[in-house]
Order: sequence, then structure tokens, then C-alpha cells
Amino acid sequence: MKLEEIYKSDNTIISFEIFPPDTDEKLKKLCDEINILKNYSPKFISLTCGTAGKNNEDYKRILNILRTNFEIDIMPHFTCICNTKKFIDDNLIFFKSLNIQNILALRGDKPENYNIKNYEFHYASNLVEYLKNKTDFSIAVAGYPEGHFECKSCNEDIENLQKKIKAGADIIITQMFFDNQKFFDYSEKLISKGITTPLVAGIMPIISIRQLENMIKLAKVTLPKKLLDKFETHKNDPNYIKNLGIEFGINQCKELLENKVKGLHFFTLNKSYSTSKILENIL
Ligand code: FAD
Repeated sequence: MKLEEIYKSDNTIISFEIFPPDTDEKLKKLCDEINILKNYSPKFISLTCGTAGKNNEDYKRILNILRTNFEIDIMPHFTCICNTKKFIDDNLIFFKSLNIQNILALRGDKPENYNIKNYEFHYASNLVEYLKNKTDFSIAVAGYPEGHFECKSCNEDIENLQKKIKAGADIIITQMFFDNQKFFDYSEKLISKGITTPLVAGIMPIISIRQLENMIKLAKVTLPKKLLDKFETHKNDPNYIKNLGIEFGINQCKELLENKVKGLHFFTLNKSYSTSKILENIL
């Protein structure tokens, strides 16, 4: 089903993000995890991709396997930076052959020595425009409640988000966040700019201290000090951390549901346990 149809619902939509495993053994394990996550009636599962067509053949192979083995809609993430029109077109034909309906259109991170002049697609908005003119895919784009790290301010980033919406994006999926107030403020700012596109909350269950540190560094998101201290205090107790992450996730999602969030998109890291525990307690 297309995104614009899915998010017409008055109910909060559940969806999951997974990433392509690098071995067949891990792929088999991932299929087992998806079989567990299926119990929570996700409307789709999104599959992350590397930038600049990294491991594209492998990506297509995994997409094909997931599409063949599960009846759930799969939404590929697709980055445009440094990719040629031909590369993009070839992938679109492949997505069509799998009857894929939806794409998460991204720019991707800039590689070192990136020279904008060498490429046709500079921003995600260029890709959204291209997809909307050329295809009938429904399009998701990324949003950043704390602002994207390259932008001077969250407001400037929202102005750039408007370009993606104007180009035809159907939904916005946010970067993970750990302070709901940031999401609520972002949502209000979007509405004040006339952006009423469904805003889907990106939820990252905290599974371990190492994952938490990586997230803060890579995704450049902040963690409320009180929460960080709590995790730090128990950093030598992995089970405690996992349970604390689940408890935090339950409370975070409950508050979002009370505020009628359009969707919860769980960054599962290919593991079902914490996401399932959170969902068991909120649905
Ligand atoms: P854009 O929307 O193009 O924005 C990039 C930056 O440029 C922003 O600072 C923006 O404000 C600015 N900008 C936009 N348009 C203009 C303009 N016209 N003029 C000047 N500045 C402009 N990365 C991956 O590699 N693979 C993935 O699978 C992946 N999945 C993701 C899933 C989600 C839900 C999210 C939130 C992010 C994901 N990312 C992924 C990360 C993403 O690729 C990076 O954050 C990347 O740096 C920006 O991509 P974007 O699509 O948001 O870019």
C-alpha cells in the first residue's frame, strides 16, 4: 500500500527499520526477527542503504529475498549523492519489478572531498522531484527534530525540508530523539510553516551503552543529562541497561501516542526483543 493511503488512518501506524545483514547467517537470523515483529502488524518495513550505491548488488539481492519471503511492504532507503541518473534509473526499474510502492528518498552523507559541481543530485529534494516527475512511487523523506548537523539552525533546516515537501514528499520520518519535547516543538514549527505532511516519529530503543554512544556521535542527537547519567551509573550491567532502555521506550512512546503521533517507526538494529517489549506495553 502507498504511504499516502497508509497514513490516512486515524490510528498510529507502526513500522520498522532494518539494515542489510552482511552474511547469509545473519540474514536468516533477521528473517526470524521479522517473523516476531510481524506480530505487531507493521504497515511496512524499511531497509537502509549505503551511500553512493555502496554494495548495491547485495542490497538488491537482500531486498529481493525479503520481498519474496514476507507479505509485508518493504520500503527501500535510497540515497542520491554521488549517484548517476543511470544508476538511479536502473534501481527504480528493479524496485518496480519487485512491486515496491514506497521509497525513502535521501541525500546521504557527503563523502570526503565531495565536489558538488560533479553531480546532478545535490540534495534529497532533487531526488524527490525526479521520482515524483518520473514514477508513481510514494515518497518518504527524513526530518531532524534537532536540526540536521550541517545546518546552522533548526529553522534553516526546516526551510530546506519545505523544498522536499514542495517536491511532493508524502511523509516525513524523523531522526531518532530522546526528548519528546523536541519532537513536539518540531511538529509545531512545521505546522506554523504550513507543513501538514504526516510526521512519523523515529524511535531507537536503547539496547546497550556502546550503541547509545555510537548513536549520539553518528546521528548527532542529544540525550537529556538525567537520562544519560542513569545509563552511565549502570554501564557495567548490560541487562539493567537493556531493561532501562525498554522502560524509557515505553514511556516515550506512551507520551507520543497520547499526543496522537501519526506513526512510530522503530530503528530495530535487526533485533526484535526491545522493540517487541515496548510494543507489548503500549498497544
Ligand atoms: P537533505 O534533505 O538533502 O539535507 C541535507 C542537508 O542539506 C541539510 O543540512 C539540509 O538542511 C541542507 N539542504 C537541503 N536542501 C538544501 C538546499 N537546496 N540548499 C542548501 N542546503 C540544503 N543515510 C544513509 O546513508 N542510508 C540510510 O539508509 C539512511 N537512512 C536514514 C533514515 C532516516 C529516518 C534518517 C532521519 C536519516 C537517514 N540517513 C541515512 C541519514 C541521511 O542520509 C543523512 O542525515 C544525510 O546527511 C542527509 O540526508 P537528507 O536526505 O536528510 O538530506
